[in-house]
Amino acid sequence: MENSQRLPIYAIPLRYDRNVMHARQYARDVAALLGFSYQEQVRLATATSELSRNAFRYAGGGTVTFLLTRRQPQILMVVVEDNGPGIPNLDEILAGRYQSMTGLGKGITGTKNLMDHFRITSSPSGTVAEAGKLLPGVQPFYDEAAVLKIAGELIRKSVADPFQELERQNQELLRALAEVREKQAQFVELNRKLEELSLQDPLTGVANRRSFDRGLDREWSGAMRTQQPLALLMIDVDFFKLLNDRHGHRYGDEALVLLAGALQKALPRSSDLVARYGGEEFAAVLPFTSASEVAEVAARMHAEVEAQKIAHETPIRSTVTISIGAAVCEPPYDESIARLGYGVLVEAADQALYLAKDKGRNRTEFGEIIAPA
Ligand code: GH3
Ligand code: MG
Ligand code: MG
Repeated sequence: MENSQRLPIYAIPLRYDRNVMHARQYARDVAALLGFSYQEQVRLATATSELSRNAFRYAGGGTVTFLLTRRQPQILMVVVEDNGPGIPNLDEILAGRYQSMTGLGKGITGTKNLMDHFRITSSPSGTVAEAGKLLPGVQPFYDEAAVLKIAGELIRKSVADPFQELERQNQELLRALAEVREKQAQFVELNRKLEELSLQDPLTGVANRRSFDRGLDREWSGAMRTQQPLALLMIDVDFFKLLNDRHGHRYGDEALVLLAGALQKALPRSSDLVARYGGEEFAAVLPFTSASEVAEVAARMHAEVEAQKIAHETPIRSTVTISIGAAVCEPPYDESIARLGYGVLVEAADQALYLAKDKGRNRTEFGEIIAPA
């Protein structure tokens, strides 16, 4: 851009590191005078401070100039010039591919993304960085006289309090922190909702409790309607607390993943549903499954779990075992049974599981079969 197309407002030499802070303050003040929103003021101030710091750090100083373009719509520009050795890897930096320990690349690409105009030209004799933003809203045209007035106000406004800018930056940081915290809380809440909505247990990949409840409800109604048997297995890992204590919680988690796989393997039909009921408890819903068939399935579950040989190096056990409580309802059904709901099946299986624990674990017990009176 030709200089005749520009209306300089104010220039600051970058001789000492505090000048970087001054440049930042002027950027904000000039942005405020030109009607930029708070957020845009901060962006312009940050851009100015990034570019100025680079000039100061890597080129030993330079000049920051604030100016307006003459053509409408007018742009507020920050131009940082230095007489340093030029920026190596400029193309890489602008393309966002440059990784440096100094943060040079990040500062520049970050600035670039927030601006309406951005250009850096770098040669061995120095670098010129320009960052600009379109003036906000509908504005009168700022000519030489108007720019002079702004410069006057700017000078009156600034340097009155050298700590003002630091204080402002502090406030900005606090505000940004609060925003991050709020976003984080929203994120956690969203995750919680998603998990709730999902039908899969995140650890083991089998159906979760919600999915189990739905599935059992559906199968119960189906069984009642079609007069087919329905079986339920409640499966609890034996001495799981001991396993956790002995091998650690992580090991316990891995064991749960293996156990879920073993249980799934023992279920032959695609209509069978295995779910993580909670903690170290699983449950399986088996439609069209009679009492004799469910005994076979349970035996297969014990065998599959045994085959996994998950070490349980405690005085009580050498490998992990499970206890199973089974319950089956068999037709014919009438209205009064249908009305009971699937809860009765859960209760019966639960009681059987309790019995299996009581009788020494690593076994299956059968609950009271719900049969017609
Ligand atoms: P029992 O043979 O009577 O079932 O004994 P138990 O130790 O298996 O049963 P208890 O209910 O006393 O302990 C269950 C343990 O399971 C306690 C809890 O820390 C652990 N547990 C529950 N959920 C998880 C999990 O997701 N991961 C791990 N690693 N442990 C879990
Ligand atoms: Mg338990
Ligand atoms: Mg247990």
